[in-house]
Amino acid sequence: MKNHNPIPFNKPCTYGNYKEYIDNVYSNGKYSGNGDFTKTCQNFLETFTKTQKVLLTSSCTDALEMCAILLELKPGDEVIIPSYTFVSTALAFIREGAKVVFADSSELNPNVDVESIRSKITSKTKAIVVVHYAGFSAELSVLKSICNSSDIFLIEDAAQAIDSYQDELPLGSIGDLGTLSFHETKNIHCGEGGALLINNPKLISRAEVIWEKGTNRSDFLKGKVDKYRWIDKGSSFLPSEFQAAFLLSQLEGVKSITKKRIELWHLYHRLLSNNSEHYEVPYIPCNSNHNAHIFYITLKKTENREKLINFAKNKKIQIVTHYQSLHQSPFYKKNYENGDDLKNSDYYTNSLLRLPLFYDLKMEQVELISQTIIDFFKEEVKKN
Ligand SMILES: *Cc1c(COP(=O)(O)O)cnc(C)c1O
Repeated sequence: MKNHNPIPFNKPCTYGNYKEYIDNVYSNGKYSGNGDFTKTCQNFLETFTKTQKVLLTSSCTDALEMCAILLELKPGDEVIIPSYTFVSTALAFIREGAKVVFADSSELNPNVDVESIRSKITSKTKAIVVVHYAGFSAELSVLKSICNSSDIFLIEDAAQAIDSYQDELPLGSIGDLGTLSFHETKNIHCGEGGALLINNPKLISRAEVIWEKGTNRSDFLKGKVDKYRWIDKGSSFLPSEFQAAFLLSQLEGVKSITKKRIELWHLYHRLLSNNSEHYEVPYIPCNSNHNAHIFYITLKKTENREKLINFAKNKKIQIVTHYQSLHQSPFYKKNYENGDDLKNSDYYTNSLLRLPLFYDLKMEQVELISQTIIDFFKEEVKKN
C-alpha cells in the first residue's frame, strides 16, 4: 500500500434504498415535517430503542434544547453535565437560563465520573446530563438511583450511541429523556438530524407541543381539538420529509452498519493493544455493549500528539483530536465563575486521538493505520 489513497477520518455512508425513498417524497407531494417518512422513522426508533415516544428533530442540539425547555427551569436552577463533551450539551441548558455545573470524566474513560457528579449535587440541581462517549455506556444504574431518590431528571445525550446498550437496555431509553444525533459524523445519519426519546410518560404531551412550535397541533391532528393554538414555548424542531426519507434507509441498515464498524474496531483493538508504555486503548465497562462509534487512543506523553498527527498526515492518514474541556472554554470563562479543576477532562482534551472509522473503511486500511502508529512510536523511541 505504498501509494494508497488518502484515508480521511470520516466518510459518511449511503445505504440501501435512499434514492427510491427520496423519490417517494416527490411522488407523495408532502415535503415538510411529520409526514409518512417521519412517522415511519419514529415508529422504527420507538421499537428499536424500546421508548414510549420518539420525535424526530433537525439535530441532536434541537433535541437537547427540547429537553431544556421540558425541565421548566427557574432562575438559579442547576444542570450538571460533563465538561468533556460537545458544546451543544451545555448550550441547550444555558439558553434556557440554567446554571451549568461541570463534572469531571472518569479516570478509566472519557465518560463522566459518578463521584464527581455526586459532589456537585445541591438543592438547586434540576437535572443530570450524561454523555455516552464513543457509544460506551456511562454508569446509568447508579446515576438513575441518585436521580430517583433526589427528584432530579436524568437526561442521556446519546448522540453517539444508537445501537449501544447497557446490559440489554438501549442507551437513550434509560433516563427520563434521551437524545440521538444523525449528523453525518455519526454511525447513522441524514446529513443533519436527531431525535428526542421520551421515556418519562409525564413529559410526552408537552414535548409534542414544544415540537410543534408551542401549539397543540398534534391534538388537532388527532381530532381532540377543533383549532390549534399557541399554548406553550416551542420552536421549529421538525426535520423535513427529505431528511426522514434518507434516515429511514440508514435505520434499516443500522444492524449491518454497526456490525461492520465493530469488526473494524476490534481489529484496531487487537493490533494496537501491545504498546501500553506509549498509549492506552479504550476501556469499556463490562456491561457496555457498544456500537463502535469511535476508536481512540490516549497518549502517555501529550507532547507526542502533534508529532503523531503530522507523522500520519505525511502518510496521507487523517487522525484527529476531540473535545476541548468546556469549563476551560472562552465563553464559559468570560460569563461564569471558575469551578474546580477537572483534571481527567483536561487529560482527555490533551491526550486523546481518534483514528479513522467509517462504514466503507477496509480492513487493510485499519492494518496500515495501526502499523503507522506502531512505526511512529518505534521511531520516537529511537530518537530518545
Ligand atoms: C454530535 C454530538 C452532539 C450534536 O449533535 P448534532 O446532531 O450535530 O446537533 C451533541 N452531543 C454529543 C455528545 C455529540 O457527539
